[in-house]
Amino acid sequence: MSEASIFRDLGVEPIINASGPVTRLGGSLMPSDVLDAFLRAAGESVPMEALQGAASRILADATGAEAGLVTAGAAAGLTLGTAAILAQWDRGRMESLPRTDHFPNEFVVSRAHRNGYDHAVRAAGATLVDVGLDELGSGAGVRQTEAWEYEAAFGPKTAGVLYVVTEGVQPTLEEVAHVAHSRDLPVLVDAAAVLPPRRHLRDLIKQGADLVSFSGGKAIRGPQSTGILCGRKDLVGSAFVQMLDMDEHAQLWDPPAHLVDRALLSGPPRHGIGRSLKVSKEEIVALLTALRLFTTGAYDEEVAGYRTRLRRIHESLKGLSVSSRLVEPTDAERYPRLEIEIDHDRAGRDAFEICRALRSGFPPVYPGHWKLRSGILVIQLSCVREKDDSALIRRLEEVLR
Ligand SMILES: *Cc1c(COP(=O)(O)O)cnc(C)c1O
Repeated sequence: MSEASIFRDLGVEPIINASGPVTRLGGSLMPSDVLDAFLRAAGESVPMEALQGAASRILADATGAEAGLVTAGAAAGLTLGTAAILAQWDRGRMESLPRTDHFPNEFVVSRAHRNGYDHAVRAAGATLVDVGLDELGSGAGVRQTEAWEYEAAFGPKTAGVLYVVTEGVQPTLEEVAHVAHSRDLPVLVDAAAVLPPRRHLRDLIKQGADLVSFSGGKAIRGPQSTGILCGRKDLVGSAFVQMLDMDEHAQLWDPPAHLVDRALLSGPPRHGIGRSLKVSKEEIVALLTALRLFTTGAYDEEVAGYRTRLRRIHESLKGLSVSSRLVEPTDAERYPRLEIEIDHDRAGRDAFEICRALRSGFPPVYPGHWKLRSGILVIQLSCVREKDDSALIRRLEEVLR
C-alpha cells in the first residue's frame, strides 16, 4: 500500500475498507467501465432534461416501474419523493416547500422503521406520524406493527406512507400498500439497503410501492453521490421538475413528454426544493453504466471470489487468540463476511480497542463496526482490492496476536 495515492498527496492516508460500501468511507470502488463512461460524458454538453428523460426509460426498464430519475443518492431520492407526493403538479405547493401547513403533509410510518435517514423525508416538509409497536424488539412480546395501525392513523392531513425495507420487515409491503391504496395514499419506500440481490430492483414495485429510492453508490457501484428514484410516472415527473434547473423561458420550456404532462403543468415551476440535490451529466451516465453491470450479473464472479479470499483470511487467523466464523449466504449474489469474535479476557482488550488499533496502524484497516457491541468485528471484501488482502491479513495478525 505504499504505492502512489492521490489522497496521500493531500495528506490523507488511504485505508483498507473492510466495511463495505458505506458513505462514511467513501462508498464503493467504481469499475473501470463506469469511470470510462464518466470521462466520456465529461467531454460533451447535453440538455439535462433530455438526459434524465432518457435515463427514465432505462430505469423504468430495469425496475419495472413507469418512470425513474437519477438522484443524488437514496436520501436525496427520499426528499424528492416526499416533495413529489406533497406537491404533485401544484406549482404553488412546489414553491412553498418545505412549508406545508396549508395542505396535507403527514407521512404515516411504523415506529420500527424510524431511522436517521428519515430526516430526508422531513426535510421536504413532511411531518412523520409514528404508528405501531415493536414488541419483538423490546423483548415484551411477539407482535410488531400491523397494517391496521397505519389505517387507523390516516386522516385528512395524511399525504402518504413511508416504508423502510429490511430483511423480514413487518408488516409486509403488500399489506401496507393495500391499506394505503384503499385510501388513495401513495407509499414511498426506502430501499437503500436491500441490494443485492438484483431482483429487489423489481420486487418492490410489484409489491405495490408507488415510489422506491435506491442507492447508486452502494452495491450498484455507481458514483457515491447517485441514487435511483423510480415509480409512478406522475410522481417521478413531479420529482423531476422539482429537481432540475428551471431557468428557462416558459415559451421555450420543453420537458420530455413522457415525464411531464403539459396539460397538468402549464409552465415551469421555480427552482424546486430538489435543486440543491442535483446530479451531473457524468454521474448520470456513470450510474446507468454501473446499473447495466449490476443487472447483467457482471459482479457475480467477483462476489464468488470474496468467498475464496475470506476463507484464506479465516485460515490465517487460526493460530490467534480469537475465534472467527464465515457467514456465507445461500444466495450467490449476497456478500459473504467473516466475523471475528473478540474474547475480552483472552485478548486483554475489547472489540472497540481492537477496532481503534486496526484503524490507527499502517495501512489503516476499517472493519465493519455494526456488531462491535457484541464483541464482533466484521470483514467484508466488496471494497477491498485483492492486492490488499496480504496487507489486511498482516494488520489483523499484528493487532490480534
Ligand atoms: C445508505 C442508506 C440510505 C442513504 O443512501 P445514500 O445513497 O447514501 O443517500 C438511506 N436509507 C438506508 C436504509 C440506507 O442504508
